[in-house]
Amino acid sequence: MNLTERTENYKRVCARIDLDAIEENVRNMRALIRPESKMIGVIKTDGYGHGSIPIAKVLEPLEPISGFAVAAPEEAFLLREKGIRKPILILGYTFPYAYERMAREEIRITVFSVEMLKELAETAGRVYRECGKSMKVHIKVDTGMGRIGVSPDADGLEFVRRLMECTRDGSMEIEGIFTHFARADEKDKTSARRQLELFTGFLSQIRETLGLEIPVKHCANSAGILELPEADLDAVRAGITLYGLHPSEEVPGERSFLKPALTLESHVVYVKTLRAGQSISYGGTFTAAQDMKVATIPVGYGDGYPRSLSGGRGYVLIRGQRAPILGRVCMDQFMVDVTRIAETQTGDRVTLIGQDGEERITAEELGDLSGRFNYELVCDLGKRVPRVFCRAGRIIAAQDLSGYYEDDGF
Ligand SMILES: *Cc1c(COP(=O)(O)O)cnc(C)c1O
Repeated sequence: MNLTERTENYKRVCARIDLDAIEENVRNMRALIRPESKMIGVIKTDGYGHGSIPIAKVLEPLEPISGFAVAAPEEAFLLREKGIRKPILILGYTFPYAYERMAREEIRITVFSVEMLKELAETAGRVYRECGKSMKVHIKVDTGMGRIGVSPDADGLEFVRRLMECTRDGSMEIEGIFTHFARADEKDKTSARRQLELFTGFLSQIRETLGLEIPVKHCANSAGILELPEADLDAVRAGITLYGLHPSEEVPGERSFLKPALTLESHVVYVKTLRAGQSISYGGTFTAAQDMKVATIPVGYGDGYPRSLSGGRGYVLIRGQRAPILGRVCMDQFMVDVTRIAETQTGDRVTLIGQDGEERITAEELGDLSGRFNYELVCDLGKRVPRVFCRAGRIIAAQDLSGYYEDDGF
């Protein structure tokens, strides 16, 4: 089966990822950050639910992209298997089982505790003796997120000093150091600026007391990229903005260049009349006051479509018009009111996220309506939702329950 035949069957539901939009978002961010800064593409959680493999392949050749960041070593291993060669950093804690393979595949590890160092140094030493590769590490500094990281004080300095000892035999190399903003997505940047100050202060201390200049210092997340130019150090970490989504309601303002890459579509599978007095879906939470026209959509919370959109909180677009959800969203199906969209028929295209005519429903809005937020909404789109990846309007890759497929030319 070729790609066209395969993707023609994605009728039930399909997420379409516009790879050109992602490239455009990178270009626009490049214009925004300091010319000397590089960009680390954050593609954890399978590229925020969009699909990390084709995204990494499109981003890898771009000039600003110095590498990638993910959360779990398995995400990095998969990218290596698919031929991604640029540096990949694991942003969180890594369990020791993964050290050896990471060292061999040159996947960067985040370090922040002395407990990690012993086993890490042992593994790195062994790999170094066997194949001459040194384990590259990034130090995480906690300047206010309170999650992981050394504190930017004497204890932190002591950690860096101990880490430097591990690098003497060449088996380990301190490539980077970073911190993470807790509140850069708020209008008031006081807290983020304070974090940046703590971080740069700590960098000076490392320079002065330990005589160490760490090559890749990075700090800014998406919100930082958009609104804190002073946080562009050697690299920035671009996550949500790669996908054209907003870091928060407060960021960015009106003039956003962000172009959403994902649209989510389905098709009407049934249209019927709901008679006055009849109820609909589990719990019978909605009862028709008069006769209504109802359409069934074959998507549900089993696909990651939020159940909290039940009871009229959410809507979809059919024939360029809004159709509100009736009753509860089920695991695999839900119903919408199409009384006012009289022409609706089985087979009509349904837009769950995206544009249809004049109407548009964004991940931000759906996040709001469902009491989630945009990051969570896209990350939660299930494995059961097939993805198609497009460049210049042409499908060049696809991902579904049976695997990942791509065009020969890609
Ligand atoms: C997820 C993550 C990012 C990306 O954040 P966005 O808000 O999506 O840009 C950057 N840095 C770290 C440490 C992260 O965990």
